[in-house]
Amino acid sequence: MSRAETKSTEVHRGTSSDDGRPAGAPQVEVLAARDVPLGGPRAMTVRRTLPQRARTLIGAWCFADHYGPDAVEESGGMDVAPHPHTGLQTVSWLFSGEIEHRDSLGSHALVRPGELNLMTGGHGIAHSEVSTPGTAVLHGVQLWVALPDAHRNTARDFQHHVPEPQLLDGAELRVFLGCLAGAVSPVRTFTPLLGAEILLARHSALTLTVDPHFEHGLLVDQGDIRLSGVPLRPAELGYAHPGTDTLTITNESDGPARTILLGGTPFEEEIVMWWNFIGRSHEEIVQAREDWMTGDRFGSVTGYDGEPLPAPELPMVALKPRRRVV
Ligand code: MN
Repeated sequence: MSRAETKSTEVHRGTSSDDGRPAGAPQVEVLAARDVPLGGPRAMTVRRTLPQRARTLIGAWCFADHYGPDAVEESGGMDVAPHPHTGLQTVSWLFSGEIEHRDSLGSHALVRPGELNLMTGGHGIAHSEVSTPGTAVLHGVQLWVALPDAHRNTARDFQHHVPEPQLLDGAELRVFLGCLAGAVSPVRTFTPLLGAEILLARHSALTLTVDPHFEHGLLVDQGDIRLSGVPLRPAELGYAHPGTDTLTITNESDGPARTILLGGTPFEEEIVMWWNFIGRSHEEIVQAREDWMTGDRFGSVTGYDGEPLPAPELPMVALKPRRRVV
């Protein structure tokens, strides 16, 4: 995957006293998305909110790409040839369309709207992702979770889970990881995490009790949203610091809204992220790249029509670790 990135824009909203925040509401930082072309002949473009200079992680969530709704006829859809991952988990969550997933564990799965597909890279996995021929519109998110040091070399794994929708105050919640509003996902995580899709009816508000040890991020897909009073536009990610036990999500638009709520306990380890790898040092990344190009660490993907993706060249300077922005 090519990772050419346009310059990131930071937006600060909600830091003045006249921003309409209710008294006592948490301060919300607004993280803007930047457009990133994923490469390929017709180059599907995603909107990336994590990582960025102003915020590298939210809990162990370390990567957030939001895409669509894209007419596949124009965008070319998704066709990502086999590529490796290490030190992380990937979450594919769709709003519309369908993606065929194949990995070196032997998994062959269809990723569909409202269904969690959680792939654990651990020491190493390879996978391909291709939108199916029947997909007219592709729309969803691709998220990564950093694995903590104690578990980052765990065995590769793939889990599928369909959360039961929960109805609450005119909202519809699908809790795919962690627990929220009485719903609990059975999917195991390596650090305390929350991941949920929240649909809101027009002109409605939802107040959620959340774990005060967590930090949270609300990614807006659609609608005029406020997070605890702070306005968020589509594709923006509103960040709420730890110490908050209540989040209020308001939909001010005349139609339904869709958001993704992410959360987790602050991830304090320094990580090195490059291409599709997460490690702890430059040397580990060099080794992972070498292993992908010449070894069998990541296994092979069967059934994909085409060659695996070659790793890009490493930068001339040593990769620097990044840590959580406080
Ligand atoms: Mn991948």
